[in-house]
Amino acid sequence: MIITIDGPAGSGKSTAARKLAAHLEIPYLDTGAMYRAIAHLAIEAGIPTTDQEALVRLTEEAELWLDCGPTHTRVQANGHDVSEAIRTMAVSQTTSPIARIQQIREILVGKQRAIGRKLGSFVTEGRDQGSVVFKDLADVRFVVDADIDKRAERRYQELLADGEDVSLDEVRENLSARDANDCQQWAPLLEPGQSIRIDTTSMTLAEVVECLESHIKEAVGS
Ligand code: C5P
Repeated sequence: MIITIDGPAGSGKSTAARKLAAHLEIPYLDTGAMYRAIAHLAIEAGIPTTDQEALVRLTEEAELWLDCGPTHTRVQANGHDVSEAIRTMAVSQTTSPIARIQQIREILVGKQRAIGRKLGSFVTEGRDQGSVVFKDLADVRFVVDADIDKRAERRYQELLADGEDVSLDEVRENLSARDANDCQQWAPLLEPGQSIRIDTTSMTLAEVVECLESHIKEAVGS
């Protein structure tokens, strides 16, 4: 079974996808972690986001390894564990412009499909999973969203818990910039009828997961 959860940054899709995967006891594919890992490598190598050629080369040569456990994701890039390093604001800011580079998207989409083939059954999350990457393979496709203030608040709490020194305003600005960037080209949002849409603004995590699960039961009849 392949479940895709698309949606903008901070919509709650990652947390919900992870919880859902744990409930269903199937792996969870965190595709944002792959783009983040490339951004982290670029920062480490001192490559600016304007140097597309160097960024594409870096992506082609990068050895990414993901442990897609239902309750945890570990990420290695070129032999180093970067699971925590990829969650900083600096990496978030760098990821979005890098993710707009078409050749980089093609390389990472290829890797996501290869991981998907190996996993068989999984929950995957990102903005283009149901609309592009697993368009023809997904059994149930969700789009989750929430209003910008709620998304900023959620992301802010996560960063605080990780010990980052940021303000709510900075996080909100970062999310708005990422929205503008991410929406522009690579995310043809699914049309109504092709996906199940859930607005998580006033829902708790438990309610979101319950809602996802009830739709899955209805869709696959189990
Ligand atoms: O989901 P997460 O916040 O980790 O994603 C970080 C960034 O990676 C997104 O803002 C987006 O720019 C990029 N991304 C993407 N395609 C995906 C997942 C993430 O371009 N499937």
